[in-house]
Amino acid sequence: MADYENFIFKIDTDGIALVTWDMPDRSMNVFTEAVMEEIEALVDRVAGDDEIKGVVFTSGKDSFSGGADLAMLQKIMSQFHATKAKDADKAARELFGNAGRMSWLWRKVETCGKPWVSAINGTCMGGAFELSLACHGRVAVNDDSIRLALPEVKVGIFPGAGGTQRVPRLANTQEALQMLTSGQNLSPKKAKAMGLVHEIVPKKKLIEAAKKLIRDGLEPVQPWDEKGFKLPGGPVYSPAGANLWPAAIAILRRETYGNYPAAAAILKCVYEGLLVPFDTALTIEQRYFTQILQTREAEVMVRSLFISLQDLNKGARRPQDVPASKLRKVGVLGAGFMGAGIAFVTAKAGIPVVLIDRDQEAADKGKAHSAKLMDGLIKKGRATEAEKEKLLSLITATPDYAALEGADLVIEAVFEDSAVKREVMERAEAVLRSSAVFASNTSTIPITDLARNSQRPKNFIGIHFFSPVDRMMLVEVILGKKTGDKALAVALDYVRAIRKTPIVVNDTRGFYVNRCVLRYMDEAYSMLIEGVPAPMIENAARMAGMPVGPLALSDEIAVDLVQKIMKQTIRDLGEKAVDPRRMGLIDTLVDKHGRFGRKNGKGFYEYPAKPAKKHLWPNLKTLYPQQDPEKIDIEELKSRFLYVIALEAARVMEEGIVIDPREGDLGAILGFGFAPYTGGPLSFIDGIGAATFIERAGQLKKKYGNQFKPPKLLAEMAQKGERFYGRFAPAGEIQKAA
Ligand code: NAD
Repeated sequence: MADYENFIFKIDTDGIALVTWDMPDRSMNVFTEAVMEEIEALVDRVAGDDEIKGVVFTSGKDSFSGGADLAMLQKIMSQFHATKAKDADKAARELFGNAGRMSWLWRKVETCGKPWVSAINGTCMGGAFELSLACHGRVAVNDDSIRLALPEVKVGIFPGAGGTQRVPRLANTQEALQMLTSGQNLSPKKAKAMGLVHEIVPKKKLIEAAKKLIRDGLEPVQPWDEKGFKLPGGPVYSPAGANLWPAAIAILRRETYGNYPAAAAILKCVYEGLLVPFDTALTIEQRYFTQILQTREAEVMVRSLFISLQDLNKGARRPQDVPASKLRKVGVLGAGFMGAGIAFVTAKAGIPVVLIDRDQEAADKGKAHSAKLMDGLIKKGRATEAEKEKLLSLITATPDYAALEGADLVIEAVFEDSAVKREVMERAEAVLRSSAVFASNTSTIPITDLARNSQRPKNFIGIHFFSPVDRMMLVEVILGKKTGDKALAVALDYVRAIRKTPIVVNDTRGFYVNRCVLRYMDEAYSMLIEGVPAPMIENAARMAGMPVGPLALSDEIAVDLVQKIMKQTIRDLGEKAVDPRRMGLIDTLVDKHGRFGRKNGKGFYEYPAKPAKKHLWPNLKTLYPQQDPEKIDIEELKSRFLYVIALEAARVMEEGIVIDPREGDLGAILGFGFAPYTGGPLSFIDGIGAATFIERAGQLKKKYGNQFKPPKLLAEMAQKGERFYGRFAPAGEIQKAA
């Protein structure tokens, strides 16, 4: 029987133990309770066996490790809340113990008396990088595609297994803070330049180089455990420290507006930790980690941005009984702005693409977009010429529909015009076999309407991308009334293949994301009309956690497109559907001043030639009488943005457009950056509680209008004390129950 379930242990003739982490039945190594127990046993064995001179720790997978299994962390957090209800002291003690479990185990590794070398063969994240930092030597394969990172802050927590202490004891404090508070990825080269790894070597030489460090007499003592240790960035209380710290605090404040307690805790850990001996520093980190694990931000960010994200990426909404589809060929109709991007991401996933436009020139132009994107990646060292050639060879640009023959999926991205869409669909269906799936990337036309013209509406579906297609991770998959399970499965298999995150949405005007986005922008237009100064509007939105202000976003989307959408809404739903004052504002910008947005260099912002930065159009303040900024409640502006979006998300749930809260939350975060620290708009309501939320929404409705009218669903939830997570079971369970 093997000694360990998750590790292979082999001692060579020099007495060096090669420990290879290779978890059975997992494609990636992660820390689970069982893995931690085995590491503890390994440390004891190594420390107690005189024959063993040192350890080389590596991985048997392509990557080194993804870090801790966050599902384990989620369990710890919910266990804390459950125990707290009965015995708060006991809950706090248990949480403190759990928060330090990994940290003190890594400390045991570094103080066990034998040298450990981490041989980093592939991507190494979170707790695994922290374990590597606790090793006395670190050797990594010199490959730019390998990422080393402590990304915890991105999910509302921080590197609590010594990361906040070892990084600033190895690297310059400023670089350390930047790395820790942004969760940025480092290439092995960059990590070496920062002092976080000792050597970078070709893949073949990895283990040998690691062993050589031990044979050459690597001391089993970390620099910070030696007398006279000096911090690479100098002490906190020094001229350098006096320069760094006030600026670091100001930068963090500017970037997070105090919305991310974990990022602030990192600064505290580093500042306080660098003033004291190492063991005390680890205890400080453990205390802050315990605090952070109790925050709502940690709870909901881990849930939405890790657990739900993984679930949706793995196909939580995929009909189980449809066999996995193989996409041997995908057709893209329309090689414009969106079609060109769709062709790129498809070919990047290794799938052959036929890219069709009205003539050869237009089709070629679409293909050239892929060449340009690959050139950009090559410039950054993230792709090679050979990869570019291979990707381009997968794209056939042509005006000839016959080339679609044999395609398993066709996605149309032609003009937003039902007649044009009908024509291209009919031409494609004439060539496609009957089982092929046809998808539309329309942003406004109901899928059910488009499907009416199809020979096989069961195979018709919406696959709605966001621009720019290569960067936006979300895809809305839209079900028409007659869309069948097979089409849904193929669409989800496709989204998975191109490594994006799908949400499944029932057919409605604007689907899900755009409905919320329009509310966000509309609220900003109302504020402008009320005389709130434009800079205050943009700042309030960013302070609320939105990455892009609503006026800047309007410019990106194009103000004339906003005008078109408003006019179409009036045509479809009547005059009352659009507030005439808001329509007036947009008409003034577009018709009177020719301000179409970023695309013509004039919108809510001015776009002077570089290097000058864009700035708000000064004349905005002449359009409406301005309020005195001193008298405006910025907190109320922030609430208006968050509430107006959350209310729309709640309506979407009530209408059954989105049925799974995980999708409602992630769709808003990935689709337009809805304040990630809230966990998403539905988690935001859950956090406040439906009853309190309705009360506050009612106050806003009185002052600002019906956009704040809570849907009946919320009243019912308030009455029953329900939350979205709970009332709406994740869709996987809904399907099983049905
Ligand atoms: P675009 O004008 O850049 O591209 C449309 C392309 O379709 C053009 O290259 C045009 O030559 C081609 N085309 C028109 N008629 C054709 C025909 N009969 N046969 C073959 N090709 C034809 O438009 P876009 O911004 O890429 O939008 C395309 C679709 O994607 C629209 O339905 C739009 O609503 C949707 N969409 C756009 C965005 C966005 O941000 N632009 C986002 C999501 C969805």
